[in-house]
Amino acid sequence: MCLVCRRRFSKKDMLRFVADEKESLCQDRKYRLKGRGVYCCRTEECLGCFAKQAQRLAKSLRCPGVKVDIDFAVEL
Ligand SMILES: [Zn+2]
Repeated sequence: MCLVCRRRFSKKDMLRFVADEKESLCQDRKYRLKGRGVYCCRTEECLGCFAKQAQRLAKSLRCPGVKVDIDFAVEL
């Protein structure tokens, strides 16, 4: 489910993100990283505000201290 718009998409239409060992948000480009992931669909609207959803990210990742790099950019 997309973190931003809450719609459901098939996995290949979504981008996956996890919190790494330093609790920084990172993109799981190969859909292979361990741990809880969050997903964002590929619409510009959602991608544009995905990284700003700090509270939702923290909750979904069960990582209250998750940090989002100021330069965080989503790669399609
Ligand atoms: Zn979305």
